[in-house]
Amino acid sequence: MNGEPPAPGLRKRSNDRGRDLTRPESPEPLPFPLYDNHAHLEFEDGIDQLDPADSLDRAGAVGVRGVVQVGTDLETSRWSAQLAASDRRVLAAVALHPNEAPRLFAEGLLSAHLSEISRLASEPRVRAVGETGLDFFRTGEDGRDAQIESFETHIEIAKANGIAMQIHDRDAHDEVVSVLKRVGAPERTVFHCFSGDARLARICNEHGWYMSFAGTTTFKNAPALREALAVAKPELVLVETDAPFLTPEPFRGRPNAPYLLPHTVRRIAETLDQPLDEVCARLARNTERVYGSWDEADDA
Ligand SMILES: [Zn+2]
Ligand SMILES: [Zn+2]
Repeated sequence: MNGEPPAPGLRKRSNDRGRDLTRPESPEPLPFPLYDNHAHLEFEDGIDQLDPADSLDRAGAVGVRGVVQVGTDLETSRWSAQLAASDRRVLAAVALHPNEAPRLFAEGLLSAHLSEISRLASEPRVRAVGETGLDFFRTGEDGRDAQIESFETHIEIAKANGIAMQIHDRDAHDEVVSVLKRVGAPERTVFHCFSGDARLARICNEHGWYMSFAGTTTFKNAPALREALAVAKPELVLVETDAPFLTPEPFRGRPNAPYLLPHTVRRIAETLDQPLDEVCARLARNTERVYGSWDEADDA
């Protein structure tokens, strides 16, 4: 689309060695249009890099009518906000990723960057603060205080702007829940790439927190995730790609993009043993409840 902001400096995925980088073919279109509520369109991946407009065209052709483009640092958050302002198929989420927080803290930049995130969060097509949260997989003990401080400030920003929050929770379920309980979660809180089991799904049900299921839902070694999905209240279930990561089966390991979302959606419908069109319609409704309308300039 014309007027699209140039992508920020190429973000290269690591661990490309040995991966098949050819892009999978498009799946059969979904019977009802819905949204990918978490993707990173700025990442370079695959042999044929898709620019954001191509990626969105290809997604639209299979029934993925809109995307939440998610920032992970100041540069990608600014870019996400610009893209959302220039393309009606995009809404933005802005944040400093939990793995960025300790580094920024050490450099004395955390509070300045958080102020800029706060400013971006007030833009009309920025509809979520994210991805924020806790990651104890990549960040060790010494980074935890900075992560928690950053997470708490992101929670305040989401609340102050009345927008949703997308949580990144990696190996930190209990701590994420305890921070949310201690400081109070924003009204619309989403566990992006939900990675918990039925127990965490019940906690989310109890608090009205949304669970966004990614390509991992299709993985053979993820029965606990499908059990969680079966337990989750239907009105709290969302779907995402987290592209370019976590490509759904049968293409695990190959480049991911929003047009591959239907594989995960079909697996959700199968797991729940419900008609695909009903599942799609409900996922679309849930997503609009969390982020508002893609068609409006501001919250409708
Ligand atoms: Zn994440
Ligand atoms: Zn992500």
